Amino acid sequence: CGIVGYIGSKDTKEILLNGLEKLEYRGYDSAGIATLNNEGLNLFKVKGRIAALRDRVDHSVEATMGIGHTRWATHGVPSATNAHPHQSTSGRFTLVHNGVIENYQDLKRDYLGDVQFVSETDTEVIVQLVEKNFKKTNDTAEAFRETVSHLKGSYALALIDNEDQETIYVAKNKSPLLVGLGEGFNLVASDAMATLKETDQYLEINDQEIVLVSRNYVEIQKLNGETVEREPYTAQIDV
Ligand code: GLU
Repeated sequence: CGIVGYIGSKDTKEILLNGLEKLEYRGYDSAGIATLNNEGLNLFKVKGRIAALRDRVDHSVEATMGIGHTRWATHGVPSATNAHPHQSTSGRFTLVHNGVIENYQDLKRDYLGDVQFVSETDTEVIVQLVEKNFKKTNDTAEAFRETVSHLKGSYALALIDNEDQETIYVAKNKSPLLVGLGEGFNLVASDAMATLKETDQYLEINDQEIVLVSRNYVEIQKLNGETVEREPYTAQIDV
């Protein structure tokens, strides 16, 4: 399973599909990508191979940001519906997740009793909780921090907000995820292998940090909103 995210000026769906292909060795049963442009969100999901996703994607859609996922099902059967990205009820928030949310049933019961769920995944609870918290704060970064602070278990997360083409919201705990840095673009990936074609500069993410990834900057925060400074490193992998 794996995650790729991109924000920049190149053809996002190609970078996402290529990145997901590089992560195929990790194993998966389904895959999906979501890209965002001025007309809105485009979401494509399939059960099966990345090649099938490539066929399914509308290649005429242009976008300069997006997120992609390969799923290894833990909660809910492998299917296009349970494949990621998952959306909140309004459609405003879209999320990919690797890992397992151990307290997803508690979160569903305590905070999301009125929400109509579409999938059987633990993941959908996260994106619905972002929407619920956003209604209180009207601030996506704050809603995301609040949501992540309630999660127990393992997660690598990448979230996009339809109303903001400038940010991918990222977090991790006990699942791999790193940020790849470029000139006028930035990336997110489970593994540097997925993005070596684009960059060899990476930024490590620690457990329970939030990262706001934009075209021209990356901001690491603690769950209380405090900013963290960190130097990038150069990946030394022969390709
Ligand atoms: N637990 C999530 C699901 O079953 C994510 C699985 C994964 O890591 O791919 O959809």
